[in-house]
Amino acid sequence: MSDRDRRDPRPLTGEPLALDLLNTRWVHEGAPQDLLTGTDGLAVWLGANGLDDRFAADAATLRHTLRARDALREAVDGAAGEGAEAVDAVLAHGRIRATLTADGPGERPEFDDASWGPAWLAARDYLRLLTLAPDRIRRCAHEACVLHFFDTSRNGTRRWCSMAVCGNRAKASRHYARTKEG
Ligand SMILES: [Zn+2]
Repeated sequence: MSDRDRRDPRPLTGEPLALDLLNTRWVHEGAPQDLLTGTDGLAVWLGANGLDDRFAADAATLRHTLRARDALREAVDGAAGEGAEAVDAVLAHGRIRATLTADGPGERPEFDDASWGPAWLAARDYLRLLTLAPDRIRRCAHEACVLHFFDTSRNGTRRWCSMAVCGNRAKASRHYARTKEG
């Protein structure tokens, strides 16, 4: 079985790159899970984000990607200003090169080393989300859930990674608490 064929086991996918990197950690029946425990999992993650043709799923890329994940976790889940230095340290490994192509002006990311590419792109994506709508960068409201999402709902009222999973769990425990009291 090639890496490409390995299925993505995560409960939540398709969030913006920065949050999708955080979503490589999740909780299944009370047990913490981690997609990025090795280069096989990294290959799955790179494939899920269309990065597998540009970057190798090797040990150095894994190390740097995990560095970015730690930094983003601190920045997203920490108090205001926390994690900024760590995210900035990841960003120091790349830059935007302004280009002019036959199709017109463009921007191209360049990296110290390709193994910093996915880490840098995730950190850069976080900056994009901060510019777009920082208050819409959310962690699932269920206390036992560690998933993150960018709320694109019109009213900005999304609370759960998934209504079917965490939304219902919360409803069920509220119901349980009510019937126990009654
Ligand atoms: Zn959740």
